[in-house]
Amino acid sequence: MGADQVPILGLPLAEFLAAAKALGAFRSMSPPDCERMYRWFHRTGGVPEGGLPAWVRDDRRPVKAVQVDGDTVKFTMELADGLETESVAIPMRHRDGSVTRTLCVSSQVGCAMGCRFCETAQMGLMRSLSPAEIAAQLHAARFAVGNPATGKPGFEIKNIVFMGMGEPMDNIESVLGAIRVLTDRNAGGIAPVHVTVSTVGRTDGIRRYGEFLLQPGFHRLNLAVSLNAPNDRIRSEIMPINRAEPIERLMEALLAFPKRPNAAICVEYVLIPGVNDADEHCDEVCALLKPLRCSLNVIPYNPRRSSPWPAPEEESVQRFVRRAIENGQFCKRRGTKGRSAMAACGQLGNERIRARRFVGGAEETVQIRVAGGPDAPERA
Ligand code: SF4
Repeated sequence: MGADQVPILGLPLAEFLAAAKALGAFRSMSPPDCERMYRWFHRTGGVPEGGLPAWVRDDRRPVKAVQVDGDTVKFTMELADGLETESVAIPMRHRDGSVTRTLCVSSQVGCAMGCRFCETAQMGLMRSLSPAEIAAQLHAARFAVGNPATGKPGFEIKNIVFMGMGEPMDNIESVLGAIRVLTDRNAGGIAPVHVTVSTVGRTDGIRRYGEFLLQPGFHRLNLAVSLNAPNDRIRSEIMPINRAEPIERLMEALLAFPKRPNAAICVEYVLIPGVNDADEHCDEVCALLKPLRCSLNVIPYNPRRSSPWPAPEEESVQRFVRRAIENGQFCKRRGTKGRSAMAACGQLGNERIRARRFVGGAEETVQIRVAGGPDAPERA
């Protein structure tokens, strides 16, 4: 941000006004007008005639590509440095027939975590996104991306999940900054109970997110964690983070997480044929999760490009879910949406951008912060 600009997408209203005041912007625009401009921008996507004032930084970026698979829409936006964000708007049908959408947002371009089943991991980490670049994804989904169902731009977004490119806990302060904007009634207006941050299991980030939940207004935010394995041996094979943060340490952080009473942590389990889908794996996972109030979310593996594994057979997905329920574990199967547009879970990532290596804007060798990340030799 230029020192003489205030990011309208990067700050909630109160902080936006405070920054505007500090900059002397109220000499040219009254505080009520400033407030009106902020609300109008966020609620309608509109800008004043003649554009936003020069002291306002506008982080909206052009929508570059839109891919549609059924009702699922993936879109990319080109950032100032040529990199791209990827986001997916997933439909949710309600009993009354209405349709709202969950927006899956990216918190980074690429990812350093190196999960072997994930397309994004093949990119390595390019760079982390700012709060404004994260919030811009909601703004684009609401006002700029064409909706095939209506023929007009814009989707009604009810839920936000941080499950796009990147590990949110690896960029936690920007993620928290974005959540302040996304949930501000004057800006994104998304109820905190409809926001979920999903992590691969970085315990420092889980603790920081837990502290954030203790602030007024944020206690209903949700946490999801990608477990994906019943034990350290299998988890370390497919998720390098586990070598640094084994399951016992992850469980300690999850048990200490200050979720609201009766709320459950969502435990994601990508079911990969021949890796983690056996009956005994299911029993082991259920025993592991017994002390934790959680929902086990079974996600059929979506093959990444050049995947060593196929997608699981529907019968084996159902068997795993049934067995988990018989074990007394609350368990759901997540539907697969967007697979053919490479928009499904674990499939985000851009082949062309993958050829470039950025960290913090400087072209250099990608920084892998987890030993055995995507550029490390694969274990046999
Ligand atoms: S699954 Fe998530 S944390 Fe793992 S490499 Fe992919 S984007 Fe990163």
